[in-house]
Amino acid sequence: MEKYVPDIYKKSIYTINYEKLKARGIKCLLFDLDNTLVPYTDKVPSKKNKELFKKLKELGFKVIIFSNSGKKRLTPFKEGLDVDCCFRCFKPSPKKFNYVLEHYKFNESQVAIIGDQILTDIIGGNNVGITTILINPISKKDLIFTKFNRYRENKLIKKLSKLDLFYKGRYYD
Ligand SMILES: [Mg+2]
Repeated sequence: MEKYVPDIYKKSIYTINYEKLKARGIKCLLFDLDNTLVPYTDKVPSKKNKELFKKLKELGFKVIIFSNSGKKRLTPFKEGLDVDCCFRCFKPSPKKFNYVLEHYKFNESQVAIIGDQILTDIIGGNNVGITTILINPISKKDLIFTKFNRYRENKLIKKLSKLDLFYKGRYYD
């Protein structure tokens, strides 16, 4: 069951302690897009996104948007936030995670994935051995496929709580 448990759990991307991540040796941050950076209905990055990404770059992080969505959806974010993008990642598949490790020459201990879904972002990251950071979804609205995942996720969270492994709303880092 450990593969379902995030290393860090925070309310949102704005409450993560990035200085602490840096001190732990994290050099590269992979951000999920939908319901992590913006609701899936938003087509461009927010002002808050821009401020955060500016700060993260100043802290020295390599920041990459790492999403299952396609190129068309990601391009305004790539341009607006001036970061690299991996599109159609098919998370939880390890393929694009491994691509990032090889292409950017990081080892597992230097990379963290930040996302709102245990079944894609967290399992995918845990399977390749990088740091996994779960945040609460921004909006209750999900894409149709995500709705199905969310239903499975809620059942999974109940199970994890019974095993004393994870509780919704009990944040830690
Ligand atoms: Mg998401």
